[in-house]
Amino acid sequence: MSLSAYKLLIVLLSLCSIAPVWGTQDEIKLLQHLNVLSSDQFSGRKFSSQGSLQAQSYLVSVLENLNVPPFNNQYLHAFTKSGFFQSKQGANVIATIPGSHFQDRYILLSAHYDHLGTKGGKVFNGADDNASGIAALLYYAKLLKQAPLKHSIILLFSDGEEVNLLGAKAFIEQQKNLLNNIRLNINLDMIAGSKHTKKLRFISKDLNKILNPEDLAKFDKFQASLKKRPNVHLTYGFRGRKRIGTSVNHINWLMASDHGVFSKAGIPFIYFGVGPHKNYHSEFDVYANINHQFFLSATDIIFQQLIYLDNAMVTQASLTIEAEKTTNSHHTLMHD
Ligand SMILES: [Zn+2]
Repeated sequence: MSLSAYKLLIVLLSLCSIAPVWGTQDEIKLLQHLNVLSSDQFSGRKFSSQGSLQAQSYLVSVLENLNVPPFNNQYLHAFTKSGFFQSKQGANVIATIPGSHFQDRYILLSAHYDHLGTKGGKVFNGADDNASGIAALLYYAKLLKQAPLKHSIILLFSDGEEVNLLGAKAFIEQQKNLLNNIRLNINLDMIAGSKHTKKLRFISKDLNKILNPEDLAKFDKFQASLKKRPNVHLTYGFRGRKRIGTSVNHINWLMASDHGVFSKAGIPFIYFGVGPHKNYHSEFDVYANINHQFFLSATDIIFQQLIYLDNAMVTQASLTIEAEKTTNSHHTLMHD
């Protein structure tokens, strides 16, 4: 065990004693992941920093312990950001869980693990942004390993989102051959909010590529049925502006996080997040200031939508496979 791994173990053990006792063992673990990943030890997980390397080894060690296989035989997928004066190294952490029915058709679950690092001696811990998203992905990894979906899953913990979506762009560049087989992206970026957060917001695009109009309407109904939760209100759309000091910036939500890059590559997506709040991109985005109950419920209702879509996409997937078979047999006939 390396020194840093040993330090991590100590942090984990100390957190076990202070973690609030809520819900199932898996939910306690989920909160612990968020707590650890947003602790000062990771120094704000800045792109290409020591804290980033520590976050990578934490993610890898959890995935290894869960026996979740690495993607293309490795968890770390390095990429280079070339700059005017110097190049910097980043790495996506990627795992995969083969599907029970459609092994070569993928649902890409993504969340960025990088954040802003330290500023003026203060650690920007990024508990909501986006330790919440990666903790949820680790939680899903455990559940999906136990009960695989019909489609194969890619778990992408992306790097460099805060630096112009670098990790997502590197993924697209490195996996060109796979893009046609990625049917859907579900992107999580900020799903724990601040103390007063009630709304889990989402936007989606191109879902009509994976669901016919009838199934799409059924999915809308399913989402509506999830709206009545006590702790979290599932809401379509984001507010268009955020106030920074006295200036108001308009946000292009399509390109606000990694899903924008995947969408440009033609992949349908749903993006879940809470939007900017008072602790957003500040030193106050810490574990104590998130809405813990909201986070647990949000993680759960996103998972339910994943399960729903995995099943709903089956009709479309079977039809496509039939169509491909027919085309192939036509080709064979013609060549004969
Ligand atoms: Zn973010």
